[in-house]
Amino acid sequence: ETRLRFPPSPTGYLHIGGARTALYNWLYARKTGGKLILRIEDTDVDRSTRESIDGIIDGLTWLGIDWDEGPYFQTEFSDDHRSAAARFLADGAAYKCFCSKEDLEAKREAALAAKGDVRYDGTCRTLSREDLAAKERAGLPYVLRFKTPHREGTIGYDDKVLGRIESNYREIDDFVVVRSNGAPLYLLCNVVDDIRDRITHVVRGQDHMTNTIKQLLLYEALGAPIPVFAHMPLTLDTKKAKISKRSHGEIVAVQFYRDHGFIPWAFNNFLVLLGWSPGDDREFFSREELIEAFSLERINKSASIFNYRKGDPKFFTDPKAIAINEHYLRTMPIEELAPLVKEELTTAGLWDNAYDADRHSWFLATIELIRSRFHTLKDFSSLGRAYFSDDFQIDEKAFRKNLAATPDLQLWLPELAREYQAMPDFSLAETERLARAAAERAGVKPGIVINAMRTVLTGQLAGPSMFDILLALGRETVVKRMQATPE
Ligand code: GLU
Repeated sequence: ETRLRFPPSPTGYLHIGGARTALYNWLYARKTGGKLILRIEDTDVDRSTRESIDGIIDGLTWLGIDWDEGPYFQTEFSDDHRSAAARFLADGAAYKCFCSKEDLEAKREAALAAKGDVRYDGTCRTLSREDLAAKERAGLPYVLRFKTPHREGTIGYDDKVLGRIESNYREIDDFVVVRSNGAPLYLLCNVVDDIRDRITHVVRGQDHMTNTIKQLLLYEALGAPIPVFAHMPLTLDTKKAKISKRSHGEIVAVQFYRDHGFIPWAFNNFLVLLGWSPGDDREFFSREELIEAFSLERINKSASIFNYRKGDPKFFTDPKAIAINEHYLRTMPIEELAPLVKEELTTAGLWDNAYDADRHSWFLATIELIRSRFHTLKDFSSLGRAYFSDDFQIDEKAFRKNLAATPDLQLWLPELAREYQAMPDFSLAETERLARAAAERAGVKPGIVINAMRTVLTGQLAGPSMFDILLALGRETVVKRMQATPE
């Protein structure tokens, strides 16, 4: 059985990088019929927050990334971490290092200045028994350092994405595994937890590759089998800088996409392509198709680009994310879209329970009618507001172009409204015939009348076919709005 994990540190919100990691792990677990474990790595208690934990869980839930075990909390397993450290010390796999921060810093600076080796020089590795005993008696604070084997040759692993990765033993310094306050470090906790959770595949960012080499030594020292590693490329911005909250703001947060009306699956579809490709020209995948197509081997080796152009309101995020969202919004089965639109309208205070009852087929038909021009779910409550409420605004540009510039609007529009009121059958063909006749009487092209009507009825410059709009809005609303033609 394959066992994967998503182990976020709850020190901030769920961001694009974390969500992509979770997604890849989830896909592989689902593909192989294995398990996904959610482990909250909250050992850094000063930086971990409840708010962040909730945000991560909400974000994963919104994305539809579900887990089979957990959430486990790393802090609940501190006994495991401490006993691993104690075992290292007893076995001689780790040693106490009494070097003070100041000493280490001074040595580091000297090494830097001499362009020499900045790694720990091993002072305490070779302490004599007497020196060690004396320091212990004096109660000096110490950290625990892992005693990297002084072997010839290399240590390595076969990365599923990058192929063989190796490092010389000589290049790995004696890294710290337990802080002077007795707290085991992330490197150790993470391995101890992966062993306990029987993790078979570690899929994480390339930024963890230096950790991986050190962790191989920890697996060895703990006598545990080494999992499969797959390191994912980093995500960079168009200037090749790592994307981060500090430099990019909220657009890197999953919550941003939720707030901006993205469809959860569409966002997954965007995320998966940020560092993986199917090997053919497919761009859109259903859940099942993606699980089927996904493989660790096809994760890209080189960095993926989050294509974000700051300041362009039309492209408030990567245009690809918008394009994928549009695709789903415009093509997904209407029954699946409807609940998402309902949620959006509810948030906007535009939801009417009748849309779930006697007006349900009207609701579905209206979504179908208006969605083809929309980009996000937000558009249903903004651009599409007039379909769900009388309280909408007329777009300024549409007003200038279609109303202010149209001759005799105040004469023929209310007159046409009266005809619509009186006609026996408010049908597509008849409403159109009367509108064309009105244009002829007014001596303008039919397009002028149609555009004016569209703007009066929907507030917009463009939209679906005008006579479909009439039927969607219904006679009563149409007549009312046409009679109240703005000056
Ligand atoms: N808590 C670590 C992080 O969020 C986990 C890294 C890993 O996948 O091992 O970066």
